[in-house]
Amino acid sequence: MMDYQELGVAPVVSAQANSTPLGGCTLSDGVIKAMGNAARSHVDLDELWRAAGGFLADATGSEDACPVIGAAAGMAIAVAACVAGTDIVRVQRLPDPGSRPNEIVLQKGHSISYGGAPISQMIALGGGRAVEVGAVNETLRSHVEGAVTERTAALVYVTSRTHAVHRKGVALDELVAIGRERGVPVIVDAAGESDLRGWAASGADLVIYSGPKMLGAPTSGFICGRSEPVAACRAQYSGIARPMKVGKENLLGMLQAVREYTAVPEEDRAAEQLERMTSLATRLDKLPGLSARTAQDDSGRLIHRVLLTVDPTDAGRSAATLAAEMKAGVPSVHLRDFKLHLGHLEVDPRALSADGEEAVVQRLEELLLDPTGARNDSEAAR
Ligand SMILES: *Cc1c(COP(=O)(O)O)cnc(C)c1O
Repeated sequence: MMDYQELGVAPVVSAQANSTPLGGCTLSDGVIKAMGNAARSHVDLDELWRAAGGFLADATGSEDACPVIGAAAGMAIAVAACVAGTDIVRVQRLPDPGSRPNEIVLQKGHSISYGGAPISQMIALGGGRAVEVGAVNETLRSHVEGAVTERTAALVYVTSRTHAVHRKGVALDELVAIGRERGVPVIVDAAGESDLRGWAASGADLVIYSGPKMLGAPTSGFICGRSEPVAACRAQYSGIARPMKVGKENLLGMLQAVREYTAVPEEDRAAEQLERMTSLATRLDKLPGLSARTAQDDSGRLIHRVLLTVDPTDAGRSAATLAAEMKAGVPSVHLRDFKLHLGHLEVDPRALSADGEEAVVQRLEELLLDPTGARNDSEAAR
């Protein structure tokens, strides 16, 4: 059977959570089975998308939902829905908005890129034009209010804890209040969020999720929210959403993943991860040049990681070099490197299997206990 090995593509261990550039997430047996079953027969996709929307609406406490192939596609489609609505002529003219209002207002600190692709480009794909307000580190309510005109099609809020700047920004409830007051819909990018209900309950019109980030789903995502704008999202499948469609296999996989995800309380998942990371930290703390302890997510989420501090003298290399060597090995181990500038690396439990944990320990042992052997190994990998 065709596999990664036959293609000469090296296996990767992700200690940096589920990220799209590393193939999203690994799937449970239940999800794989649901995908396999879905693949065995034809189905009317339009009918399937609507039925799936009903299931996802229940799961999120929304009026309706529209499945998409990922959160980036979700942004383009949500913007298209706000620009063109359900009018087929307007829908099929996008990304040319014609004379429709198409300005999409977002705070400068929310103008992120997803692993290289800028959100402003996804907005443009949907016929919108990103209007960034405020400064990267400070946006006031008056900045947003001042940018809302008759040309405004939507306000966008990006939840991302690691990429967007929320300190001294306009909070979502304020943005929703502005949207209500001025009659402009609010789109929330909640791609990697664990809470399936809270964002939709905020009063936002459309909320976008990515399937693989937290939910354990294959390449997929969905937009949930109020029925009218969600219907407009679905209408885009006759237009710009056509090249971004989600197929039956991934869709059924996502629904099964959401069912499995919502069956486990977040606290239980967090407790299991903390236990694993605590014992991993104890093992890694024994290595020369490395100190390891567990640390909770900076934004207060129920995520406990192993925080590694590299002592360049004892380790014989900087944290950056160590991270690069980990990537160059077999398997290629990707540590979380958001704190590299502070000399820290992190092990994130969310995408890490028991085998993955062993690979992290083994590679760090090879590198830090026997630097010569490690160098040969990474040369062999090239
Ligand atoms: C990952 C991410 C995306 C893109 O999600 P895909 O499902 O890969 O398209 C969008 N927004 C945020 C905040 C993300 O973290």
